[in-house]
Amino acid sequence: MEAVGIDIGGTKMAVALVNTSGLIIKRAVLATEAGQGFGRAVDRLADCVRGMLGDTGQGAVTGIGIGCAGPLDPTAGIINNPYTLTGWSNCDIVTPLSRRFGVPVRLENDADVAALGECAWGAGAGFDPVVMLTFGTGVGGAAVVQGRIYRGANGEHPELGHIPISSNGLECYCGIRGCLESIASGSAMAAAGRPRFADARSLFAAAAGGDDFAAGVVDRAVQAAAMAAWTLCHTFLPERIVLGGGIMDDQFELFARGMRKHLGTATQFSRKSVSIAKASLGSDAGIVGAASLFLPGAVRGPAS
Ligand SMILES: [Zn+2]
Repeated sequence: MEAVGIDIGGTKMAVALVNTSGLIIKRAVLATEAGQGFGRAVDRLADCVRGMLGDTGQGAVTGIGIGCAGPLDPTAGIINNPYTLTGWSNCDIVTPLSRRFGVPVRLENDADVAALGECAWGAGAGFDPVVMLTFGTGVGGAAVVQGRIYRGANGEHPELGHIPISSNGLECYCGIRGCLESIASGSAMAAAGRPRFADARSLFAAAAGGDDFAAGVVDRAVQAAAMAAWTLCHTFLPERIVLGGGIMDDQFELFARGMRKHLGTATQFSRKSVSIAKASLGSDAGIVGAASLFLPGAVRGPAS
């Protein structure tokens, strides 16, 4: 049994044929070229999927799962993200693809499918609930509870990157000052390091080399992440927190240490009940997680 997973981002769209073990059998990457129009992107995705199914036959796939950068409406299957996908307002991606291929199609937020992927075959497997935080240009997050994406009102997911941390912080587009993303995202750290440092990577390197200013910016980000973990543990009480995104490729231990230390002082839950792990599927988490929506048994239930 196989399913198709699609991961749509601002610059590229990844498409993969995934089996029930989470293995990618075929894959392709297309430029998103959002500005060329939504209809054209759907046509190109459909051509790509058709090419993949060529010798398999479309009857062999159980469905097409799509993860996309939000805002979007997962219940209606509508992408509404003109911010990073130019011109994509109110775009129904589910109807045209399900019509063309005659299989069920589902749209979910990209952070949600990445968390599903990690829970099915990665660092979250066997744990429940799982909260995943992704530190990249921004900070994203998702919660998976009993094998399902945690949803709030209108089917939307919690915006974990906008947990308030410090009222002294910079103003964020979310509406407050000093949220997690405004302190610990790659872009926020890069902004805090300018003009001395070009980006977050050079800040981390200078901090490791003993530069006090860089160490201050890095420490602030680590503390912010630790405070966010505190809030997440007192709300979702996850069995595992999975940390992903480009920043964690090199800095996982630094952030995990800060979180563990902070959580160690908590009295309302056992620190031993929460583990912190590095995401293990890398950039494939989104496509395999999207496909997992149509691979029965892929997402494990509560660990017993
Ligand atoms: Zn914010």
